Amino acid sequence: MKYVYSFDEGKKEMRSLLGGKGANLAEMTRLGINVPFGFTVTTEACTRYYQENKTLWEDLVKEIEKNVRKTEEKLGKKFGDNENPLLFSVRSGAVISMPGMMDTVLNLGLNDISVEGLAKHTENPRFAYDSYRRFIQMFSDVSKGINKELFEEVLEDEKEKAGVELDKDLSAESLKEVVRRYKEIYKKEMGEEFPQQPERQLLDAVAAVFASWNNERAILYRKLNSIPHDLGTAVNVQSMVFGNGGDTSGTGVAFTRNPATGEKALFGEYLMNAQGEDVVAGIRTPSHISELETQMPEVYRQFFETGQILEKHYRDMQDLEFTIENGKLFILQTRNGKRTAEAAINIAVDLVEEGLRTKDEALMMIEPNQLDQLLHPTFDKKAMDKAPVLTKGLAASPGAASGYISFSATDAMLRNAKKESVILVRTETSPEDLQGMDSAKGILTSRGGMTSHAAVVARGMGKCCIAGAHEVKVNEKEKTVTIGDKVLGEGDIISLDGSTGIVYEGKLETKDPELSGKFAKFMGWADEVRRLQVRANADTPHDVKQALDLGAEGVGLCRTEHMFFAEDRINAVREMILSKTLEQRKKALAKIEPIQEEDFYQIYKVADGRSVTIRLLDPPLHEFVPHTDEDIAIVAKELGVTILEQKKAIDDLHEVNPMLGHRGLRLAITFPEIYQMQARAIIRAALRLHDEGVNLIPEIMIPLAGDAKELSVVADSIKDEVEKIFAEKGKTIEYHVGTMIEIPRATLLADEIANVAEFFSFGTNDLTQMTYGFSRDDAGKFLSQYLDDGIFEKDPFQVVDQKGVGKLMKNAVKLGRQTRPGIKLGVCGEHGGEPSSVAFFDELGLDYVSCSPFRVPISRLAAAQKTLKDKQLKMTRIMDAF
Ligand code: PEP
Ligand code: MG
Repeated sequence: MKYVYSFDEGKKEMRSLLGGKGANLAEMTRLGINVPFGFTVTTEACTRYYQENKTLWEDLVKEIEKNVRKTEEKLGKKFGDNENPLLFSVRSGAVISMPGMMDTVLNLGLNDISVEGLAKHTENPRFAYDSYRRFIQMFSDVSKGINKELFEEVLEDEKEKAGVELDKDLSAESLKEVVRRYKEIYKKEMGEEFPQQPERQLLDAVAAVFASWNNERAILYRKLNSIPHDLGTAVNVQSMVFGNGGDTSGTGVAFTRNPATGEKALFGEYLMNAQGEDVVAGIRTPSHISELETQMPEVYRQFFETGQILEKHYRDMQDLEFTIENGKLFILQTRNGKRTAEAAINIAVDLVEEGLRTKDEALMMIEPNQLDQLLHPTFDKKAMDKAPVLTKGLAASPGAASGYISFSATDAMLRNAKKESVILVRTETSPEDLQGMDSAKGILTSRGGMTSHAAVVARGMGKCCIAGAHEVKVNEKEKTVTIGDKVLGEGDIISLDGSTGIVYEGKLETKDPELSGKFAKFMGWADEVRRLQVRANADTPHDVKQALDLGAEGVGLCRTEHMFFAEDRINAVREMILSKTLEQRKKALAKIEPIQEEDFYQIYKVADGRSVTIRLLDPPLHEFVPHTDEDIAIVAKELGVTILEQKKAIDDLHEVNPMLGHRGLRLAITFPEIYQMQARAIIRAALRLHDEGVNLIPEIMIPLAGDAKELSVVADSIKDEVEKIFAEKGKTIEYHVGTMIEIPRATLLADEIANVAEFFSFGTNDLTQMTYGFSRDDAGKFLSQYLDDGIFEKDPFQVVDQKGVGKLMKNAVKLGRQTRPGIKLGVCGEHGGEPSSVAFFDELGLDYVSCSPFRVPISRLAAAQKTLKDKQLKMTRIMDAF
């Protein structure tokens, strides 16, 4: 078994073995790009490291040594040499990139003797001691878990003594003293001298990177990004090149296109006389990459060209890390760059137009959930014009958010749990802040650039972020932030516009997003491809309009109860519910009927002939009862009862288990007149539109059926009512009565149910609730534990449980079609807007999914990707058959 590959042995296709970084380093080496030579220890070695009780076994050590020798030969330098030592960087490299989550050690191989050699050889003692002190600190932190703060304190102290502000201004003598004190820390903490043998340093560092796969922040990152925990990381051991050797050296990161907007131009930053972590840490403010063109024109030209070559090769926007060593350019990493949803769409469309990608490939480049970022509201322009501007920072991640100021990750988490919106305000963020960032609505930092931790992570999370707002002075201890002459605290609200970088005081109104021409074009390609139709859950004409604008092909679920809460009818609804006699109820229903008819008319009008499935009343009646004395009095008066009697009637509606209680079509078994009224309103509205020339076919949906007889009693009473209207109007139209499939029994007896129902719509919310026996309203309390403990991988209320709930659905599809071939089948639970569930519903052969309007584009893309994956699979099978 081979566990180590040198850079000239791998290629980009070996990603699962070499990790993303390792595979790309090998690929670049193959392409002849100037990459410092080295080797990669595989992810399989990481897996075995855990099997071997977290130790490196003998054969692996030999393989590593062999590759060290090979690197020495290539570079004509020796690892551990006293004069001109070969030094290594040791970095993690997972299969799926996890930026900043695992550990890195730079300048490995230095010791007390070789540091002197390096100083002489480079004629730059300052550089040599700077490299050594960085190495000691990183090695101690990464390999031995010694607190970084201890080292930072020494550095700060020496800077103060020397009277300088920046690390780079420390003299060689001061750095020597720093090194001496660092080694003292090491000795005190570890009870032994700092290791002087380069081989031991290297093996310890490799083991430490393997161990960092399971550090807390890496585990959390994987959880947040649904990355499997068993992939393991590779380790890249790469010969060092130095960006900190003087003013013709430097280091930087840059994207081949703008990762925030997609604009086709180099985008990034660099720092002269610095090592990589200085750029990311955000302590010194880097220069924009375009300035390199004036500073070092030849290096800039080379870098630009390398970017072009790599972009063409990978056929995607690249995120590059580079180092300039004494005027010579080295590329340290390339990968497909992370980007905002806006940039992702623009880049995908541009790549098609540049002939680098096909439309189908472009469709596969975007994670459907990423579209969510685009579909969020932005600040209302008028509100922005009026709002007091506090300051401006870098527009690091787009979106708009208002919230209370929060100074720590923990505080953000606690306040988020209390449903408070917070903005995390920090000097800078670090991976420890991940969960707090996830809890915040937006992030504001005073330090750091576009590639700082805050910026990179926020973009990945689709969260708005403003970084490097220098005027913001954060006092994390006092919990105050000073911006100009304003001092704000935890009780103050600020608003961030992540697209402009402007920070506003107070809360700002937001407005719905406008989607660009490229977005429409991209979604058009998705529509050309997909089989599955996408409808929306929408209850009002406004929502229906929004859904259609977002590409919905109709309404899959119109929940009529939401209309019942409107002010002009809630009292009539309450009278209807609390009526003691049929007569009273009919009187109340008569008040509601014309209002409902108008609701349906308006919805049908907006839908303009597209399918609209209207569901009859579903929730338990107690949800509508009045709570305040004033409201109780109004209904009591109308019904001619005392307040006391009214309160008693309300109490009588109380159920121990309302979700399994008097709801859904059970309401129509006891009070058939409710559904009859709704059916009349639907048909009358439809007839009016027919008269106006809109040929719609009403779909009346009965919720919560579990039994064919039960359903037929209710369906018959509805149909009788419809017939009466047809007779009254002297006109008939096509209409359908169907049911929701949301009770497990209905899935088991779907053949019988289909005798009555003309269509099925799976209510996967209730179906999940009743299949697991987990209450929809309370399960959150314990489900989080299931997820934390890994008992469940996903929340079944968000991602459909294919194994259990899916099996029931499959059965229902089969039985339903047996009875009624061609029966129309859809889904209208929350799962209809979740990409992996959408793919599963496509697999089941359903006709459509229905989801909330803002998820419609996500489902459209998810459905298209499923079709494309199927196509791909079919091709592979055909190829395999040959
Ligand atoms: C469902 O149960 O999946 C559904 C769509 O209905 P509701 O959420 O209204 O119960
Ligand atoms: Mg339901």
